[in-house]
Amino acid sequence: MIETPTRPPAGKKVSPVQPASGATTPQQQSAPEPGELIDTSKMSEGQRAALELTEAAREQADALSFASGLFMGSFDFPAEFPLQSTEDRDQGDAFLQKLEKLLREKVDPDEIDRTGEIPQEVIEGLAKLGAFGIKISPEYGGLGLSQTNYCRAAMLLGSYCGNLTALISAHQSIGVPQPLILFGTEAQKRKYLPRVAKGEISAFALTENNAGSDPATMVTKAEPTPEGDAFILNGEKLWCTNGTKAGVLVVMAKTPAKVVNGRSKDQITAFIVETDWPGVEIKHRCRFMGLKALYNGVMTFKNVRVPRENILLAEGKGLRVALTTLNTGRLTLPAACVGLAKKCVEITRRWASERSQWGAPIGKHAAIADKLARMAANTFAMESMTLLAASMVDRDKHADVRLEAAMCKMWGTEQAWEMVNEAVQVRGGRGYETAASLKARGEEGVPLERFLRDCRINTIFEGSSEIMRLFIAREALDPHLKVSGAVLNSKLPMSVRLKAAMKAGMFYLRWYPKQWLPRGGAQGSLFRKHLSYAARTSRRLARSLFHAMVRMGPKLEREQLLLGRFVEIGTEIFAITATCLRARALLAREPANPDHAGLPAMVDYFCTASRLRIEEKFRAVTKNSDRAGYRVAQQLLSIPKNGAANGH
Ligand SMILES: Cc1cc2nc3c(=O)[nH]c(=O)nc-3n(C[C@H](O)[C@H](O)[C@H](O)COP(=O)(O)OP(=O)(O)OC[C@H]3O[C@@H](n4cnc5c(N)ncnc54)[C@H](O)[C@@H]3O)c2cc1C
Repeated sequence: MIETPTRPPAGKKVSPVQPASGATTPQQQSAPEPGELIDTSKMSEGQRAALELTEAAREQADALSFASGLFMGSFDFPAEFPLQSTEDRDQGDAFLQKLEKLLREKVDPDEIDRTGEIPQEVIEGLAKLGAFGIKISPEYGGLGLSQTNYCRAAMLLGSYCGNLTALISAHQSIGVPQPLILFGTEAQKRKYLPRVAKGEISAFALTENNAGSDPATMVTKAEPTPEGDAFILNGEKLWCTNGTKAGVLVVMAKTPAKVVNGRSKDQITAFIVETDWPGVEIKHRCRFMGLKALYNGVMTFKNVRVPRENILLAEGKGLRVALTTLNTGRLTLPAACVGLAKKCVEITRRWASERSQWGAPIGKHAAIADKLARMAANTFAMESMTLLAASMVDRDKHADVRLEAAMCKMWGTEQAWEMVNEAVQVRGGRGYETAASLKARGEEGVPLERFLRDCRINTIFEGSSEIMRLFIAREALDPHLKVSGAVLNSKLPMSVRLKAAMKAGMFYLRWYPKQWLPRGGAQGSLFRKHLSYAARTSRRLARSLFHAMVRMGPKLEREQLLLGRFVEIGTEIFAITATCLRARALLAREPANPDHAGLPAMVDYFCTASRLRIEEKFRAVTKNSDRAGYRVAQQLLSIPKNGAANGH
């Protein structure tokens, strides 16, 4: 639910998947100061402030992660998909069985949707199971389950009830537990983790009326008291999920600016705030198109005294807290989307075989068969990407998965929306009818109408699709910016730029020819051709990105649609890789499992379809209507407010 047009911070460590052995990455060279990377001289004040703030919140990664390597042509995929160990799986199963029982016996998602309320009994039931502390260590009263098991829980919830998914996810993925696990002092952990693990609901408050995707425009303020032992918080936060039920919040606020290199720099600080403190109020409960039982509110803070010890990480590091929290927090939504997508496949599969029109089950008609195949294959891909990213976190809590998670979020939420939409289409008029109405006239209450309303928000919050593309693009460009950003930065003295040009020349003399050389292909025979294509295409992607940089220079940063295509190609390569490797691992582990019989054909189909999408995007890099479209939009924007938009 936070976005930034630039990129989030990285932990110091990287994912277990390292770049091509021996390859020198720009990260290993001495990194320039953030201000040297991007030329801000032609930006408006607002653009510069937003960029500088988010750039300052970033940390440097030591090396390329698997996904960022894709954009540099150093495609180093793991030899084997890290399937969940039996021990970890058993631990997860024990919890999931209880959760599933609770959902089956106590939760009626259509009733929750109709009333706009989650029964207290359900919230208490979830708390009793430990569902509010899935990843919190047992030392602090939680279940201590892995990221993979947490994702599996999100899949189960996502297949059942969007409102419960949002309650649990906003609490755990962005609310108090995750930033506290990552950044809390021991005293903060001892004080708050047992409370939130037991079921005291938490929330995350960043968004304001004028600060949506751009946190730099935030106006909520926290001023230090004269004694300096506390801050006085004033402001208003919009759309705070769980806010109307929460006992404790993470609140982002501006603290006094600091002078850095002679310039005043805004500071954003993250505070843990208890909702029963004087001055905290719920001004309004917001209601939405879907997620009718979201406890989402406008929260006001009037002279709230927050002790200094409730600062998370440090004064001025709030954005870093928020961005790092989201690195793994962002995996929850795509996991929930996997659950939803599986449900859609199940509904579509049944209906496509039961329903006959024009003398045959509708699944026999090619137009419907195509939808079913696409839904099933994309669901498997989405699950493979999410589980691969989750396994990286399980191997190393500080793994740099920000790109993988962002790709899962962007691709997964867009696919899920597409799939629910297609499932509605396959069910025809029944897809559009509410579950209650279907039931009332004696049919099965299939809740696709609710699914469609509930899942629309997924491409908007926790980083909108547009912002995710910018976010990933910033990451993809980072190695190049580190090498050549200073060369193109007109704000820097010529001597600095010349020195940078020599360094960049040396780097590209070595790097560029390598992007044309054939390299060792994929190991193993199953799906080898797809994995080899992915490796080859990663180098083609690196070359195309480089050519675009040479063609456009610093302007490339502003070419959102072009960069978006590179991001989509990188994401498809990630999807092909995760899909092939997971299918290969599943088939190797259980060759006789009848559930896996259709896997090779489905994986082949997914990779062929993905390849076609990739080729189309490469073509559009040079042949597109981007500029013409931009001109039309600007013409429309120039029409006075009350003028007719099309004038016809
Ligand atoms: C149901 C719901 C729950 C939420 N929960 C929380 C919560 O718990 N905590 C919290 O802090 N916030 C929460 N939010 C806020 C949510 O994260 C924001 O809606 C989101 O950040 C987008 O901000 P905005 O709506 O102001 O859109 P804007 O930032 O105004 O964006 C409008 C449109 O412009 C696009 N856009 C913006 N900037 C750019 C750019 N530079 N380039 C290209 N396109 C751009 C966006 O993608 C979007 O399509 C919630 C919102 C909703 C609706």
